[in-house]
Amino acid sequence: MRDILPPESGRWRAFDQVFARVVERAGYGQLITPLLEDLGVFTRIGDATEIVTKEMYDFVDKGDRHIALRPEMTASVCRAFAEHRPTLPWKIYYSGSNFRYEKPQRGRYRQFDQVGIEVLGADDPHLDVEVIALGWEFYARLGLRRVKLVVNSLGEPDDRARYVEALREHFAAAGDALSEQSRATLERNPLRVLDSKRESDQPLIAAAPQIADFHSDDAAAHFEAVLAGLRLLEIPFVIEPKLVRGLDYYRRTIFEFQGETLDSAQNALGGGGRYDGLVEALGGPATPGVGFALGLDRTLLACDDEGVFPALPIELDAFVVDVTGGSAAVELTAELRNAGFSVDRGYDNRSMKAQMKLANRSGARYALIVGDDELAAGTVVAKPMQGGGDQIVVARPDIVAHLSSPTEQK
Ligand code: AMP
Repeated sequence: MRDILPPESGRWRAFDQVFARVVERAGYGQLITPLLEDLGVFTRIGDATEIVTKEMYDFVDKGDRHIALRPEMTASVCRAFAEHRPTLPWKIYYSGSNFRYEKPQRGRYRQFDQVGIEVLGADDPHLDVEVIALGWEFYARLGLRRVKLVVNSLGEPDDRARYVEALREHFAAAGDALSEQSRATLERNPLRVLDSKRESDQPLIAAAPQIADFHSDDAAAHFEAVLAGLRLLEIPFVIEPKLVRGLDYYRRTIFEFQGETLDSAQNALGGGGRYDGLVEALGGPATPGVGFALGLDRTLLACDDEGVFPALPIELDAFVVDVTGGSAAVELTAELRNAGFSVDRGYDNRSMKAQMKLANRSGARYALIVGDDELAAGTVVAKPMQGGGDQIVVARPDIVAHLSSPTEQK
């Protein structure tokens, strides 16, 4: 878990703002849910996923409730849906921190941030296309170019179940040829064996049955409609038959956005898909859903790699330097801030030299200097700090106009 200091924290906020603009324009409203939920909200995601079985921060509170810090947000969204029963389709977005007890490394933290959208209550493949397209647009707005979209379909729950059985047989028949880790994974979740990065598992994975051979007609038609929509919008994609997402509730479309500049172990910038059964498991009516979650931390690493969406320092219009020891800086600063300018100042009655150093470091456009002579004459010295230019003596009442004048603003 990390502290995020300025100016990096400003980049985090800008990240959220860019995301909100993209999805609000498509009719998504923000849902804010608690950081904590009843443990059961997450255990219903399924016991086949490590984020639930191994990585959850859970504890018993003072009221003897077993609760957990959220490891992801889809379950909270479905819980909120079951509780409030909004009109359909329900299009919402979220942003915030999640917690997973993972092994920390570059791009993998125990507290990490995500933004995401979910649509509950519609099965239309056009919606899968909309969801994917909004993720794609968001990356483009950040300036990222090297993002790869991979898609797959897990079919209907029945297709998926038959496929899982076929995988189980295929890998079980391999016996010891399968790595020990993958044999353990096979016990829990045969789909996840396809995720194995172990060299020795690769030939067995390459020879494994393909999900497409298990698609029902409906599932195949839904997937085709999604792909046709992506082609229509000219969003490039790669079909990856081995792409699986571990959560039990995924079906039909699944997808991942990969950062091509990142190491393959941490290259998933975000992902999502279609799911059902989760709202029902949380006490609501049977409701289809589709959505994604995009990781902020990794996406910003990708931005660094591509040299886009940098952290920007706060832009100041003026820095007030007052060496009169009185209240001139208090009044001048307040007046300018009220007029809409960003203004900082020196404190503690420090020397002219010390305050000018601060003014310089602040990056402000102007240092506004008040000494004893200026105070007596009712003036302020405006010294341009960026790109030179001569300092000007401005009558105190004219200072707002001076900072506002377009020729002075550069
Ligand atoms: P998931 O909820 O596991 O599908 O993850 C969605 C996205 O969240 C991933 O693609 C990552 O970008 C991000 N993410 C997941 N876990 C972590 C983590 N421990 N640290 C940083 N980012 C993460």
